[in-house]
Amino acid sequence: MIRLRSGSATDVGRVRANNQDNLLVASLLFAVADGMGGAAGGEVASRVAIETLKTSFDQNPDADGLVEAIRAANERVWERSQSDSQLRGMGTTVTALALVEEEGEERLVIANVGDSRAYLLRHGELQRVTDDHSLVEELVRDGQLSQEEARVHPQRHILTRAVGISDHVEPDCYRVLPVTGDRWLLASDGLFNELADTQMASVLRRFKDPGEASAELVRLAKDHGGADNITVVVIDVVDDGGQAVKASEALAGEPASLLTQRQRDAQLRALAGEQGAGDDVDDDDWDHVDEVVPDHPFDVPARKRSVSGRLVAFVVAVVLLLGAAYGSVWWYANRQYYVGLDGETVAIFRGQPGGLLWFEPQLEQRTRYRASDMRPARLPTLKAGKIEPSLAAAKAYVARLANESGADSTFQPGSTLPPTSTTIPPDQQPTP
Ligand code: MN
Repeated sequence: MIRLRSGSATDVGRVRANNQDNLLVASLLFAVADGMGGAAGGEVASRVAIETLKTSFDQNPDADGLVEAIRAANERVWERSQSDSQLRGMGTTVTALALVEEEGEERLVIANVGDSRAYLLRHGELQRVTDDHSLVEELVRDGQLSQEEARVHPQRHILTRAVGISDHVEPDCYRVLPVTGDRWLLASDGLFNELADTQMASVLRRFKDPGEASAELVRLAKDHGGADNITVVVIDVVDDGGQAVKASEALAGEPASLLTQRQRDAQLRALAGEQGAGDDVDDDDWDHVDEVVPDHPFDVPARKRSVSGRLVAFVVAVVLLLGAAYGSVWWYANRQYYVGLDGETVAIFRGQPGGLLWFEPQLEQRTRYRASDMRPARLPTLKAGKIEPSLAAAKAYVARLANESGADSTFQPGSTLPPTSTTIPPDQQPTP
């Protein structure tokens, strides 16, 4: 069994009149919420959101339940703001972390709306896991602003997503395998707008107790200026019941102790249902970045598979894909007919004039007509090949040509043609 140990701290800061942040520390569920709007609105929004989050998650304590809980919080805050004009326009961020069980495995699920953040400290390195839903953060992701510029940007408080400002919200959701020694940090922007990542990492490394680490983070942010409310929750993964070792053995067939840290990490990524999340997290240490998997809330996480099983599945997929591609081209190449010239003889071919890739057109039937029987104006079309959707349509076209040119028109759509008397020189024989 995983055991989580947590600590937390919150402070109004040095500038604001009241603390509109709220936090939640329960046995399996942790969250920070940073409220905004009006005199009292922000405080109400973050409190209602946290309360609803807890009640709703308790009824359905799994990954989908966490996403649903944020949606429920959204509805409650939205309804409240609609029914009370004093509270109109209020909203809140919610960043939540929960320990859940999926398919018999324990997982950490992180769900996020707004610009509060979840960070992971692993092997002493701090990595941000969530994306901010804010205007400046979108500019950072776009490459138009640096992380440092964003931290002090005057418009950094403008959110692109928040809980309670409309009747629906779409949280981001991440699933991660819990690993002993990992330390998670949930924080409102009052923390990371004051402190650089290196400062936060330093505190998280130095203070073993999560409560002391939380208090120290808040103290430093306040010392630095405390321009906003500061809220911090620190969660330690203190016991994974040997799951990481089992994972390595299951995947590699050898004891975890023989694996390098990097190999082990790669396998843990695979176990976590890794889909390549590197682009979504701006940290150049991809070795850690990939361990976090943003996924759609409704997605079922990838199942644990052995390495050879994955390889076989991959090869089978490639073969099926190639087969399907070959089949599609074959179908496309052969689905139609055209009327053209086989030497001097008007003939019906199956396929594409000139062929398609490696599929040459096939001679379907020769007609009794020669090119010279047709109106001269039709010859360029016949040389290029007149495409028809079916054999019957191609025969009908030949009949029309014969009619208009005054040639014998006993040729009927669907009828069997008498053998042609035309002799085709060997160099003009169609390829079979
Ligand atoms: Mn704030």
